[in-house]
Amino acid sequence: MREAQPTAILLQDYQPPAYLLERTELQFLLYEDHVVVDSRLQFQRRADSPAGAALQLHGEELELLSLAIDGRALEPGDYELTEQGLEIETVPASFQLQCRTRIRPQDNTSLEGLYKSHSMFCTQCEAHGFRKISFYPDRPDVMSVFTVTVEADRARYPVLLSNGNLVASEDAGQGRHRATWHDPHPKPAYLFALVAGDLHYVEDSFRTCGGRDVCLRIYVEEKDLGKCEHAMRSLKKAMRWDEEVYGREYDLELFNIVAVDDFNMGAMENKGLNIFNSSCVLCNADTSTDATFQRIESIVAHEYFHNWSGNRVTCRDWFQLSLKEGFTVFRDAAFSAAMGSPTVKRVEDVKLLRTAQFAEDSGPMAHPVRPESVIEINNFYTLTVYEKGAEVVGMIHTLLGPEAFRRGSDLYFQRHDGQAVTCEDFIRAMEEASGMDLGQFRLWYSQAGTPTLRIQDEYEADTQRYTLHVQQSCPPTPGQPHKQPMVIPLAMGLLGDAGNLPLRLAGAAPDPETADNTSRVLVIDQAQQSFVFEGVAERPVPSLLRGFSAPVRLDYQFSKGDLHALMSRDDDGFVRWDSAQALATRIILEVQDQLQAGAPVAVDGLFTQACSELLADESLDPAMVAAMLALPGEDYLAELASHAGGADVDTLHAAREAVKVAVAGACRESLLRRYEQLASSAPYAPDGPQIAARSLRNTCLDFLCSAGGSHLERALAQFRQARNMTDRLAALRSIAFYGEESQRESALQSFYADWRHDSLVVNQWLGLQAVTPAGDAVARVRELMRHPGFELRNPNKVRALVGTFASQNPVHFHRLDGAGYGLLADVVQQLDGINPQIAARLLTPLTRWRNYRGRAELMCSQLRRLAAMEKLSPDVFEVVSKSLEDAD
Ligand SMILES: [Zn+2]
Repeated sequence: MREAQPTAILLQDYQPPAYLLERTELQFLLYEDHVVVDSRLQFQRRADSPAGAALQLHGEELELLSLAIDGRALEPGDYELTEQGLEIETVPASFQLQCRTRIRPQDNTSLEGLYKSHSMFCTQCEAHGFRKISFYPDRPDVMSVFTVTVEADRARYPVLLSNGNLVASEDAGQGRHRATWHDPHPKPAYLFALVAGDLHYVEDSFRTCGGRDVCLRIYVEEKDLGKCEHAMRSLKKAMRWDEEVYGREYDLELFNIVAVDDFNMGAMENKGLNIFNSSCVLCNADTSTDATFQRIESIVAHEYFHNWSGNRVTCRDWFQLSLKEGFTVFRDAAFSAAMGSPTVKRVEDVKLLRTAQFAEDSGPMAHPVRPESVIEINNFYTLTVYEKGAEVVGMIHTLLGPEAFRRGSDLYFQRHDGQAVTCEDFIRAMEEASGMDLGQFRLWYSQAGTPTLRIQDEYEADTQRYTLHVQQSCPPTPGQPHKQPMVIPLAMGLLGDAGNLPLRLAGAAPDPETADNTSRVLVIDQAQQSFVFEGVAERPVPSLLRGFSAPVRLDYQFSKGDLHALMSRDDDGFVRWDSAQALATRIILEVQDQLQAGAPVAVDGLFTQACSELLADESLDPAMVAAMLALPGEDYLAELASHAGGADVDTLHAAREAVKVAVAGACRESLLRRYEQLASSAPYAPDGPQIAARSLRNTCLDFLCSAGGSHLERALAQFRQARNMTDRLAALRSIAFYGEESQRESALQSFYADWRHDSLVVNQWLGLQAVTPAGDAVARVRELMRHPGFELRNPNKVRALVGTFASQNPVHFHRLDGAGYGLLADVVQQLDGINPQIAARLLTPLTRWRNYRGRAELMCSQLRRLAAMEKLSPDVFEVVSKSLEDAD
């Protein structure tokens, strides 16, 4: 039997803290087998909290050595110590608490709080890590000015870092030294950071718009000094962009980044001392792909942007997480769009949202952008809070327009600087700055689930009137059986034979945002609405949800001819891509029906013709051609099928491959022509034109190889001759997917022999084998878990091998003998005692048991096996119990 089940915390129970914390002074004495933490905390009772309120501090896994108030030592009877913290019944209105604790970072495998990664000390405090360092009011609405002294052995830990500015460094005798850091900006404990290690750095500087010089440093192990240049360049671009677009200037003398190998998240925005998972900051042309370069630029910017949206203005409580994350993801997406191709960036974001966030929104863990009930907050760092949260901010931007939105963000930053606030405060600032009522819009923060827009149309040739009938609905989600109509901005246009038509909406002025009058935003705010357009000279094809103007499902019965027209000629790049995807989806499902009926496979010639036209269109950005040609992923197709009784994984995979082979056959000449034409001998650069060319060239190679035969020789040659990691890995992937077993094995072995010394490259190698459909993937993954290149304690390795297998290799993960599910449950069981946060996240694919035909019982039996485990973390308990809630 398990002990008492973990209980949920509710947003409605929020109470402000009884005591404010003016100053926090910390001293860390670092040793090999323990760390002593001394704290001096200056508390002040809040004016409106009752006299005599008890002082409550969080604390977990701490050894309390001493406790005193204003210099008077407390006896065990003066306070109550529990598993979660410490309560002192009677304290003065204003006092200093002194506390000494001992912790053991070398044994901390959860990677929360202070821990060791290789020989380095580092921290991760968001959301609840600080309570594993010292007794403290560990909640984001308690903000304090920190002064931190770190003392350690000088030879082992020559570099000692914390937040803010360095104010002193001195010798401490006996081979030890100490450094003192002061951060003048009040912050909650989750933004605290400490790093000590044998680190080297790359340095640069940035002059702010206010004329101040900021010293920028990236700290890494010596071997990685050659992998920092791109992150540094990205940081400087992000600093400039935030000044120009949001008027935000950096506010300390220095900005430090540290790369750490063992890290649960991607990166963390600690004030003035960002800590990065090494996979999200280190790169160079030899070892990293184009996608890695782009991801690093975006994550460096994201963490930097948090300095304002998150640090200067922070969250009142963790239910408001999207206040900082949704807004900051929106900001980093706009930055990435400005640095590269806006349409391709939008397409990538929408792919993630529609595949994984929509699945989350229709599964057992569905929750609103601002959740109302949480067992373990670590389970709410979700795509809903981040990506859907960013879409919600994006819709505000669309509804207000860029100028009013900027006035709103200025007001928000100015009004709430130094405060811990709520999503409501953000919306109110937007309302006040724009004069727009966002009352009904707020439902996006409180209603879970993905709305559907069902659209029908009518055209009357004699009156030249065209009518769109729009119905919105949103399915029930856990705890929310009925939904109210939301405010949905629907950007649209009308496509005629010769291009997009001018829009004259009956009873409305032209949309001021679009000069050419061929695009406008319809605001859908009722369950049913109709919009009449006048002077429409021909029956148009509607171009709907341009730019993906809202995170909704679109239900309109396009004909295949309509989709072909939109993908070839519409003005909106997103709609062109989306129509290509929709057409490909239609074709794959047709082939799936043929396979299920035992009929011969026949791929509609319209589709292969559309692919040849795309390949021939040299006016289009090659990155767009690649994105439009790439067939929708099996995970996306499965998500779509979840509404039709669940996906049949095996025939879906076979149908998708058959369509690929048909394209390879029908477009052989044009695929070969583009493949040859896009070859380049220029030195590698991660810039837009080169990335676009590589992306299309490797897409062509992948199509060709799917047909097998002599094309594999081309992949083998590219693999041997590649001068950058993008081309090398793309070729290896095609060989692994479509080559003979001997070709596959020898290429994989030679790749490992070349790159075994580089852990991040080895992770790519692990991930590739995890997704390869050829061979017995379950056995391969189990074997790789015993390989020297794998390590269960390292989150990057677990994600690369096990996470990738479960989420991106559907044919093997969903094997009918249940071996794939058994593998995942085994790993979760093993990992839960080591790192519950990662264990819980790994479980996501099993929670989707409703989406797969004939698999529910197999998947649920593994969830039940985990539920029956004797010791289960709250993290895994929450995911397992919610997933099983209505399974029986
Ligand atoms: Zn963030």
